[in-house]
Amino acid sequence: MSIAITIDHGAIADNIRALRARAAGAQVMGVVKADAYGHGLIEAGRAAREGGAAWLGTAQPTEALALREAGDEGRILTWLYGPDGPFDRLIPAGIDLSVGSLKVLEAIAAAARATGEAPRLHVFVDTGLGREGCPIDLLPALLDRAKELQDAGTVSVVGMWSHLAWADRPGHPTIDRQAAVFATALDMAAERALTLEVRHLANSAATLTRPDLHFDLVRPGIAMYGCPPVEDPDGALWGLRPAMAVTTRLALVKPVHAGQGVSYGHEYTTDRETVLGLVPVGYADGVFRSCGGGRAEVAVRGSRYPIAGRVCMDQFVIDLGPDTEATEGDEVILFGPDGPTAQEWAAAAGTIDYEILCRFGGLRPKGEA
Ligand SMILES: *Cc1c(COP(=O)(O)O)cnc(C)c1O
Repeated sequence: MSIAITIDHGAIADNIRALRARAAGAQVMGVVKADAYGHGLIEAGRAAREGGAAWLGTAQPTEALALREAGDEGRILTWLYGPDGPFDRLIPAGIDLSVGSLKVLEAIAAAARATGEAPRLHVFVDTGLGREGCPIDLLPALLDRAKELQDAGTVSVVGMWSHLAWADRPGHPTIDRQAAVFATALDMAAERALTLEVRHLANSAATLTRPDLHFDLVRPGIAMYGCPPVEDPDGALWGLRPAMAVTTRLALVKPVHAGQGVSYGHEYTTDRETVLGLVPVGYADGVFRSCGGGRAEVAVRGSRYPIAGRVCMDQFVIDLGPDTEATEGDEVILFGPDGPTAQEWAAAAGTIDYEILCRFGGLRPKGEA
């Protein structure tokens, strides 16, 4: 592979420690969905545990099961499935289950009776994101039935939770509105004498900016990978550091004359005698073609260079300048702790760093830590 995706597991563990310190009084769930945002599910999960994450969270049930199969014995919550679960596998594995509808609740209950074990449930309330979860209007019926099933010993309701739409925009009015709906939902649980072990609402952004919304458990994802979704007023990245680095090596370094057009369509032309560096990764490796034309930068020997001209399928070019000491084989950092950030690449590509991490992380050879 001409592209190297390096994961700093120590950074993940340290980031969890930093988030635990910010959310003192709450437990931390390391969100490891989507192969841990491209960082490798099992290894990232281990690092999160090492940093003190009492919980791990996955959207996909298969990922929760994979964590168990890899030997993780801690609390794991999974949430993205319909009535097909697979609850017959999740319940014996001791995975905490999210529930947002009567139909899924009944499916869980049926599987619980079949396995003879009472699964731990977290009732997912849609407080305004308009995605997963039970609308507040339908919540009383869902809670009534959950209480009935709990009294019968079929399930155990341990949590209530929700997810924020605008947490990365501190002060956005929907945050307080969602918090108010969540409070109503908690009251509904209390009215039914449902004793909740964990109430949880905060993603990374709310973990960092809204201590009043930490409740019993916070669920940072992107922050545990060192990419805080909100700016640190102290300019210090909230004490987090990026865990992923994407690097390659210069394949060719060569002098060219002034007026040399570079790459397809000659969108870049040298304005002086200079030295070009050939970077052997392209859009087939995840480098957005839209990042060409100088929009994204890479680092070589501690200096930044914009992409010169178009990104090709397997390669792009940088203009190293006439006085460069760079040479073939030198490391090129696309993003990582010593180069540009994933956020900068996201801005260049017109997306968010979440997608940058998933995209490049997806290039990691299968099974590689
Ligand atoms: C992805 C996700 C998170 C983590 O979000 P970040 O913005 O990465 O911190 C938390 N909760 C739920 C339900 C999610 O889907």
